Amino acid sequence: MSDKVLSKELNPFLIAQRQFDEAAELLNLDPATREFLRWPMREIVFQIPVRMDDGSVRVFKAFRVQYNTARGPAKGGIRFHPEETLDTVRALAAWMTWKTAVMDLPLGGGKGGVICNPKEMSPGELERLSRGYIRQIARFIGANIDVPAPDVYTNPQIMAWMMDEYDTITTEWEPGVITGKPVELGGSRGRIDATARGGIYTVREAAKVLGLDLKGQPAAIQGYGNAGSFAHKLAVEILGMKVVAVSDSKGGIYDPDGLDYEQVLEHKRRTGSVVGFPDTTSITNEELLELPVLVLFPSALENVITAENAPRIKAKIIAELANGPTTPEADHILHERGIYVIPDFLCNAGGVTVSYFEQVQDAMNYYWSAEEVYEKLDQKMTKAFHDVHEMATERKVHNRLAAYLVAVSRVAKAMKLRGWV
Ligand code: GLU
Repeated sequence: MSDKVLSKELNPFLIAQRQFDEAAELLNLDPATREFLRWPMREIVFQIPVRMDDGSVRVFKAFRVQYNTARGPAKGGIRFHPEETLDTVRALAAWMTWKTAVMDLPLGGGKGGVICNPKEMSPGELERLSRGYIRQIARFIGANIDVPAPDVYTNPQIMAWMMDEYDTITTEWEPGVITGKPVELGGSRGRIDATARGGIYTVREAAKVLGLDLKGQPAAIQGYGNAGSFAHKLAVEILGMKVVAVSDSKGGIYDPDGLDYEQVLEHKRRTGSVVGFPDTTSITNEELLELPVLVLFPSALENVITAENAPRIKAKIIAELANGPTTPEADHILHERGIYVIPDFLCNAGGVTVSYFEQVQDAMNYYWSAEEVYEKLDQKMTKAFHDVHEMATERKVHNRLAAYLVAVSRVAKAMKLRGWV
């Protein structure tokens, strides 16, 4: 149950701080704003005792980090993962702060996590863990305080249990306390594929500014969870691309003629992995990243594109659906090689954007059609993409730094207006 120890170079929070420092320097931020934004405003570290199916009790270590609330309530997912650490959650909470700011949503940033392996837990154990999580943090969250959502290995069913636990504690119907809920329980239409869809819209815009035609061109997707699997579907449906390779934690598959989404998904449902899908070549996750494709979607976890493999990446566009997939050293190499990176907190912001729409609908108690959600999401993603692209062009910096410049200046402005600094 102890925290995994992360090496200095790959500690996501140290990376997040380094990225921020670079932006703070360029923005000439005053020392107080700088110090404040390098660290979370509040961190909650706690333990959750859970009665397991065999009658024993296991104690899980958990976190909720409220990074910054200058622009609105803390907002961000809860991740269930065996490798979770406080520093990972801190980094993800910082990136949520920049994500809501770059999208110009009236929200701050936060993140939660539990050290656990959901693949080895029964539905009953997962339900008791989810409810236990909310019992520990109920007093610190709320629709106007901090709003959790799904992340890696959490899903709408888990959000439903969490919302129910919260309502039971507060004795009130308050659906806006959590997003990513099932549509039947105050969720938004279009939330389920929103992360991938938002990313696809940014790839469409990137292709426009780069003068590239995406039709029939190859794409590879690392990770086949919520973001990766829907990216497969929508890269074909919206962009007309050919997805030639996909992978999950067990390995990857490659077919230069293209992979059928429905069939791969069905295979994964049946066998638990994309691996072994008929008539494809087996590849590793590392090999997938270096395939000759036009667009690469890292859609799994942090630190997969490093100084070691960045020189061998062949994609022209990297669309970061994962949080933190690229190290700062790799960023530098990719920029020099002219590879167009759509940085994580812009590329994968579709999820939190539709989470925001979900909160708006919950507050009105009136719900939009899927088409209405897609249209509003497209407007938001397109605007944010061009804000970042223009900043990168104007300041002659890479896209991640440009996204930081846009986001950090918005948060700093809100802090100043509040009189915090
Ligand atoms: N976990 C997602 C993210 O990293 C969604 C967060 C949310 O909807 O609040 O952006």
